Amino acid sequence: MDLAARIVRWQQAFGRNDLPWQNTRDPYRVWLSEIMLQQTQVATVLDYFPRFLARFPDVASLAAAPLDDVLGLWSGLGYYSRARNLHACALDVVRLHGGAFPQTAQLLQTLPGIGRSTAAAVASLCFGERVAILDGNVKRVLTRVLGFDADLSVAANERWLWDEASRVLPARDLQRAMPRYTQGVMDLGATVCTARKPACGACPVAELCVAFGQELPERYPVKTRKIKRSAQSIWLLWAQARDGSVWLDKRPTPGVWAGLYCLPLFDSREALEAAVTTRYRKHLEDVPAFTHVLTHKDLYLHPVKVQIPTGAKQDIDGAWMSPDEWLRLGLPAPVRKLLAEVARGSD
Ligand code: SF4
Repeated sequence: MDLAARIVRWQQAFGRNDLPWQNTRDPYRVWLSEIMLQQTQVATVLDYFPRFLARFPDVASLAAAPLDDVLGLWSGLGYYSRARNLHACALDVVRLHGGAFPQTAQLLQTLPGIGRSTAAAVASLCFGERVAILDGNVKRVLTRVLGFDADLSVAANERWLWDEASRVLPARDLQRAMPRYTQGVMDLGATVCTARKPACGACPVAELCVAFGQELPERYPVKTRKIKRSAQSIWLLWAQARDGSVWLDKRPTPGVWAGLYCLPLFDSREALEAAVTTRYRKHLEDVPAFTHVLTHKDLYLHPVKVQIPTGAKQDIDGAWMSPDEWLRLGLPAPVRKLLAEVARGSD
């Protein structure tokens, strides 16, 4: 039995079949779950997905919503460019495609935020198209099965793997086999062929797997380019009124937390002090600093708190927002966490 047939059969018996975005061929649900699952654990998406669907049950309702509402519901999932693209994509589906997702990977890829692998996932899961996905999990499975140890940070090597991923796809009964295969290869990477200590004894493709034969599965995949990390210190002005309102400003695009509402940010404590009206400056109070890790950057966050009477005008951009208001806005996760204390304090 070939690789695809084994994965299809295994998925039916042992794969994940009860996730809320499965058992449907609705491209809206599948697309939404695929975008949410990028860089995010299934357990977290299980929490966000139903809330998002309850508020935006279809692509038309998502397209009709203000971007701030979408960012608000996305708050805490991180990688906010996904949420901005999600909204832009919904608008394009409505404006350019009459409200129905295109049915081929080639056309799906023309939409904002949909890359080659996501397009293939939607097209194969919803429309049975014979087209390959190649996310991190699938790269791991295929490089191990094929014993492919070339450096995937080299574009030509990744292209070769894409070609192989296409070559091994099911060849017949595509409407039934393609959704199962796509789901199966994802499931295999997530639950059996894991990065560390893969469960080769429970793997349906062990007999065909070169890495298993070599007893060296963890040698694959090979990727040499390291992400260059940087660090940045940021001071946050946490101006709070007695009723729990806080002063928030919308972050410019591009930049850190682009498009989200946030406490005003400064490069130094001096710059923060200078922005506070003289009569409140002596009441500034440093809150313990903490680190927030982004993909390419460590942010050292230094909140500085000050009590200011409700409604007092400030000389910096932004506005007072009550807990009711900011709870609905898109805020960076660490800022939301800080402000949660305000909300609790004002109960
Ligand atoms: Fe991965 Fe092991 Fe299966 Fe090979 S046999 S695909 S290394 S789990």
